[in-house]
Amino acid sequence: MPKWTTLPRETLRVGAGFDLAELDPSSRPGWDHGRSAGEKRLAKNGERLSALQERLFADGRSGGTRSVLLVLQGMDTAGKGGIVRHVIGLVDPQGVQLHSFGVPTEKERSQHYLQRIREALPTPGHIGVFDRSHYEDVLVVRVNELVPRDVWEERYDEINAFEKEVVDGGTTIVKVALMVSPAEQKARLRERLERPDKYWKYNPGDVDVRAQWPLYQEAYQAVLDRTSTEHAPWYVVPADSKWYARMAVGRLLRDALEDLDLGWPPADFDVEVEKARLDAQPT
Ligand code: AMP
Ligand code: MG
Repeated sequence: MPKWTTLPRETLRVGAGFDLAELDPSSRPGWDHGRSAGEKRLAKNGERLSALQERLFADGRSGGTRSVLLVLQGMDTAGKGGIVRHVIGLVDPQGVQLHSFGVPTEKERSQHYLQRIREALPTPGHIGVFDRSHYEDVLVVRVNELVPRDVWEERYDEINAFEKEVVDGGTTIVKVALMVSPAEQKARLRERLERPDKYWKYNPGDVDVRAQWPLYQEAYQAVLDRTSTEHAPWYVVPADSKWYARMAVGRLLRDALEDLDLGWPPADFDVEVEKARLDAQPT
């Protein structure tokens, strides 16, 4: 079975000096094989992911405090939903806590922007998934000047401090930015308009957002420059190949779970006594 030449956590991690303009969204760092080998690799990785997730869940049930949070960002059509379906879909749904963040409701607007995020953080034993996140508060909000500059400027540091607090509480944060090329996005939006089974994914506003592409690139660059920290680094995933993006995110998630190094919780009862009690009962 073909393997990664270099793992995504090494090739995709955002370090100092990262330049989004130099990223080729059609590239497949660390993977020298094709699509069908990639899909097999994802399925295989899914078995491991599922086993690790069960340990995390068992740990949470036994008083453990660990959890994992996958933050998904990207432009429309970048494939956030596909990651949820094809990667998160490989694990037991009872261990997953998924939240999608859209335009804040009136109630959400009346409170601090991180409040709805705090309320959605994964509880011990769970994999939390954010389909969009607090980063919208420095992306769409910055691009459309939904709050004054001095307000969003302060948010980068605030987000770093918030994430530090979350990590210190036992949650591993995996931040993924899915990057499609403008051409691929256009093709995907066009497909949504061609197919009645995809109309529901289309929003006329998507075309207006697309028209602001350079401003979004700038806003993403600022996010990557200012919030890829030691405690919660960003991974930029080239996403023109959906299968590549999925296998890369699957592997990032797996490695985050491997790092927890969880064993199975020991029995909090006497196994021999319980065997004897069970055996003493009629068949
Ligand atoms: P979608 O993920 O395609 O269903 O769309 C959700 C929409 O909600 C996107 O257009 C986001 O930009 C928007 N959104 C998410 N968070 C915020 C926020 N904090 N402020 C304003 N708009 C947001
Ligand atoms: Mg959308």
